[in-house]
Amino acid sequence: MSSAVFTATALTKTYVSGEVQVRALNQVDLEIDEEEVVVLLGPSGSGKTTLLNIMGGLDRPTSGKLFFRDLDLTSLDDREITKYRRDHVGFVFQFYNLVPSLTAYENVALVTEIASQPMLPDEALALVGLEGRMHHFPAQLSGGEQQRVAIARAIAKRPAVLLCDEPTGALDSKTGIRVIDALLGVNRQLGTTTVIITHNASIQQVADRVLYFADGRISRIQKNETRRDAAELVW
Ligand code: ADP
Ligand code: MG
Repeated sequence: MSSAVFTATALTKTYVSGEVQVRALNQVDLEIDEEEVVVLLGPSGSGKTTLLNIMGGLDRPTSGKLFFRDLDLTSLDDREITKYRRDHVGFVFQFYNLVPSLTAYENVALVTEIASQPMLPDEALALVGLEGRMHHFPAQLSGGEQQRVAIARAIAKRPAVLLCDEPTGALDSKTGIRVIDALLGVNRQLGTTTVIITHNASIQQVADRVLYFADGRISRIQKNETRRDAAELVW
């Protein structure tokens, strides 16, 4: 058994709209290890979201292979990929997508009601430092706090992987650092493999590895000897 969570081989995605073809991912080979924190950096349009969505079972590659542990994601039908996503994947997006009429606690409980071995909402919210804000509504929370509720919601089902698409994109540096700190805390305490897309080059310091994207390919991989804490980040 390898310790890879994801193994991609020649992973390719071509979008076709009318006469135009866009090769969003071009023959990407990649392994991501259990418990790793990986940051994806690169210009807009370089394929980062496409890769994240394929890993999360939200999109399908045009060719190539992608394994989640021993499971060949590229061979699954729609029902199986939905089950894969539900059982193993947490998502965090730039905009938090909380239900405004529900409290933080209730937003997390929405997910734990349908998961098989979830945490209690209190436990998930405590993991991101929001034990004192459980009964607040989204409008009563700062952007950074709302994003931490979204992280609690994503991890309450104890997913193997947490896929984050520009999670600090809408935040100022202070709250952004607190959000990164929450992601690292989840990774430490639950061992959740974490992939973070960002435009903010300083976030690369918290990663085990940084993957640089250009034109649908990984142009460079940087391995960090030591991983910094969020508190050490210079934004
Ligand atoms: P990034 O996240 O690095 O900004 P994306 O993965 O979103 O890049 O996009 C990679 C390329 O694929 C871009 O040229 C983008 O316009 C194109 N693309 C992404 N999604 C679609 C889609 N659903 N239909 C057509 N083209 C798309
Ligand atoms: Mg993107």
